[in-house]
Amino acid sequence: MEKVDLPVHNHPLLPLTRFSHGRCKGCWSHGYIYGGYRCNELGCDTLFHKECAESLPDINHSSHPDHPLKFVRKFQSSICSLCQVWFDTGYFCSICDFKLDLGCVWRPSPPLTLENTNTHEHQLVLSNGVGSELSQSTRNCKVCSSEVLEFKQYYECHQCELFFHVKSTNISLEEYLTSHPEHPLKFLTGDEAPGYADKKCLLCGVEFNQELHHCDVCNFSICRGCAGNPPPISVMSTKTHEHQLHLFQRLVDFTCNACGTRGEGSPYLCFQCKFMIHRDCIDLPRIININRHDHFISYTRRLGHGDWTCGVCREKVDGFHGAYSCSVASKCSSSYVVHSKCAIRKDVWDQIELEGTAEEEEVDDTTIKHFSHEHFLRLIEDGRILQENKLCEACVFQIQSESFYSCEQCDYILHEKCANISVKK
Ligand SMILES: [Zn+2]
Ligand SMILES: [Zn+2]
Ligand SMILES: [Zn+2]
Ligand SMILES: [Zn+2]
Ligand SMILES: [Zn+2]
Ligand SMILES: [Zn+2]
Ligand SMILES: [Zn+2]
Ligand SMILES: [Zn+2]
Repeated sequence: MEKVDLPVHNHPLLPLTRFSHGRCKGCWSHGYIYGGYRCNELGCDTLFHKECAESLPDINHSSHPDHPLKFVRKFQSSICSLCQVWFDTGYFCSICDFKLDLGCVWRPSPPLTLENTNTHEHQLVLSNGVGSELSQSTRNCKVCSSEVLEFKQYYECHQCELFFHVKSTNISLEEYLTSHPEHPLKFLTGDEAPGYADKKCLLCGVEFNQELHHCDVCNFSICRGCAGNPPPISVMSTKTHEHQLHLFQRLVDFTCNACGTRGEGSPYLCFQCKFMIHRDCIDLPRIININRHDHFISYTRRLGHGDWTCGVCREKVDGFHGAYSCSVASKCSSSYVVHSKCAIRKDVWDQIELEGTAEEEEVDDTTIKHFSHEHFLRLIEDGRILQENKLCEACVFQIQSESFYSCEQCDYILHEKCANISVKK
C-alpha cells in the first residue's frame, strides 16, 4: 500500500484496509477505526479516521453559513466555538474568529432556524454567542430559567429577546445511517440517552463517551466512530478463515476463534463453521518476527492437542484456538508457541508483516512456504523411502525414491519437482 501525503499530518500516512483500535489524532475520539490511516514513522504511531485525515482545505459548514472555513493544522491552542474543547487541528473563519475542531465538523449540528416549535411562537435563530446582536447582560433560558452560557450554542428569538438552550427546544437531531437504514437515529449527548439504552456501542463494544446515535424503535445504539465509518457487513480474509465472514449485529459476549480471548460487541462470524472472530483479529499477520524468539513465528488456526504455554506471558494457550508457533519447529529445541494477542503486542512485535518478503523465503534453505498449503514444507532428499505409499498432492502419483517436500504439521506431501513447477511469485 502506497503512503500518501495529507495536510492533516506532517508524515506520509499509510491507508488502512481494515480495522484498527485507538484514538484518532484528528478528532480525538477513541474506538475502532475502519479504513482510516496510520503513520508508522518511528515514535509517531498516529491513527486517523478516514474522514478526519481526508479533511478538505475549504468547507462550508452548517454551523457557520456566512463564510467558508479554512483547514488549519496546529492552531496556537484554540477552543472550538461549538463544543468549547481545546484542539490543534480543525477549521476556522478568519473574518469572525470562528473555530471548529474536527470532532464538531462531523457531529450533526442543530438547524440554524426553528419554525413553529412548541417552545415558542416565533422563529428561533441558532447563535454561537459570537457577534450576537442582543446585548443583555445575563441570558437565561426561557424554558428552564438557568443561564445560557456565553460562547455556547443556543437559540434566540429576535422579536422577544428571549433565549433557549438547544436542549430546551426539544429538537432531535436525526439522520438515517447505513448501519441502521430502517429508522432514523437520534444523536444524543450527555445524559439524554434513555435509561434502557445500552452503555456500549452495539457494533464495536466501546463504551459511549458522552455521545451516541440511538434508534428508540429498536433500542439500537452505536458510537460516533461506527456511525461515521460503519464496519462492512461482510469481509473475506483467508489468513484467518477460508469462508466469508458476516457482521453479526448484536451486543454479544463471545470467544474469538482466532485469539482465544473474550470479546464484546458485534463479532464477525461464519455460520457454516460457527466461527467467531474479533474485527481486529481478521487480519492477524501470518509470519512475523518477535523480540522473544530466534526464529520467525507463524499463525496457525489451531495448535492441536497439547499442553501449550505462551512464550511471552507464560500462561496456558488453548490448542483449539488460533495462535502463533515457531516457523522452523524442527530446529527449535522445544515447541515455541505464543498467544495471538501476545504475539502482536507493540512491545513484542516490530509491526512488520513478513509474508511475501525475501526474509520469509529464507526461513531455512530446506524449508519452503508453498502457495498450495498453509504450513511450511520441509525438503526430504533422495533415498529416504516413505514407510507408507504416499501420493503427491499435485500430480497424484506415488512418491518413490525422488526428493519431496513434506509438511511439518500434517501429512501434506509434494514431489520436489511438482513444488517447483508452480512456485508463487
Ligand atoms: Zn477522527
Ligand atoms: Zn468542537
Ligand atoms: Zn465567519
Ligand atoms: Zn462503535
Ligand atoms: Zn480475537
Ligand atoms: Zn467457515
Ligand atoms: Zn501469552
Ligand atoms: Zn500441513
